[in-house]
Amino acid sequence: NNVIEFKDVWKTYKMGDEGVNALAGLNLALRTGSFTAVMGPSGSGKSTFLHVAGILDTPTRGTFLINGKEPGKFSSKKQAQMRRNEIGFVFQRFNLMHQLTVLENVMLPMIKEDKSKAMELIDRMGLEGKHNKLPSQLSGGEQQRVAIARALINDPSIVFADEPTGELDSKNANAIMQIFQDLNRKDGVTVVIVTHNLESAEYSDEIIEMRDGKIRV
Ligand code: ADP
Ligand code: ADP
Repeated sequence: NNVIEFKDVWKTYKMGDEGVNALAGLNLALRTGSFTAVMGPSGSGKSTFLHVAGILDTPTRGTFLINGKEPGKFSSKKQAQMRRNEIGFVFQRFNLMHQLTVLENVMLPMIKEDKSKAMELIDRMGLEGKHNKLPSQLSGGEQQRVAIARALINDPSIVFADEPTGELDSKNANAIMQIFQDLNRKDGVTVVIVTHNLESAEYSDEIIEMRDGKIRV
C-alpha cells in the first residue's frame, strides 16, 4: 500500500524563454508506514518534491497520488481540505506564531476543537507545564516540539519535515529525530524528511538521494 506515488513527474518553472526542470521524470513510491529521508545537493529538487507531495504545488506533467487520490485533479478548496486532514508539515525555522502561546499554536490548525487532545500532545512532546509559554520563552528544540505537536493535531497519515534539525545542535537534533522515529514506529505515521544532516537521516529506514530532479540510482 503506497501513501505517496510519483509517476514520471515533471515540474517546469518558466524563466523568461527558458524552462527549468525542478523535477525531471521523478518516480517514487512510499509505503504506508515508511520513514524516508531525502538528501541531495542544493538545486536537486528537494523543495519542489516537498511542495508537490504536500499539495502546495501541482506537477507540470506526470501523475502524483496521495493515498490513491490525485490532488492535481481537485479544486483548490478540496486540495486545502486534503492538506489539513491528511498531511502534517514541520519546517526548519519552526514557523510558530510568536504572539500566541504554545497551546494556541498547537490548536491553530485544529479541525475539531479539543483542548485536552492538544494538552496531551504537548505533554507527549515533553513540554509538560509549558502550554502557556510564548515561543520566545522556549529553546529551539522546544519550539520544534511545539511545531511537531501542531503538525500532528489532526492525526495526519503522513508528516513532511523540511530540514527539521537544520537549526538545532546535535543533542536537540537527535531528540527531535527520536520523536519522528517514535511516531513512525509506535503510531504508524508515514514520515518523510528532507535533510542535509546524515546523522538525522540515519533515523529513517531508507535514505534516497535526489539529483537533477529525480532519484539518483
Ligand atoms: P533543492 O530544494 O534541492 O535545493 P529546489 O526544488 O529548490 O531544489 O530547486 C530545483 C531547481 O528548480 C533549481 O534549479 C531551482 O533554481 C529551480 N526552482 C525552484 N523553485 C523555482 C521557482 N519558483 N522559480 C524558478 N525556478 C525554481
Ligand atoms: P526556509 O526554506 O527558508 O528554511 P522554511 O523552512 O520556513 O523556510 O519553509 C520551507 C518551505 O516550506 C518553504 O519553501 C515554504 O515555501 C514552505 N512553507 C512555508 N510555510 C508553509 C506553510 N504554512 N504550509 C506549507 N508550506 C509552507
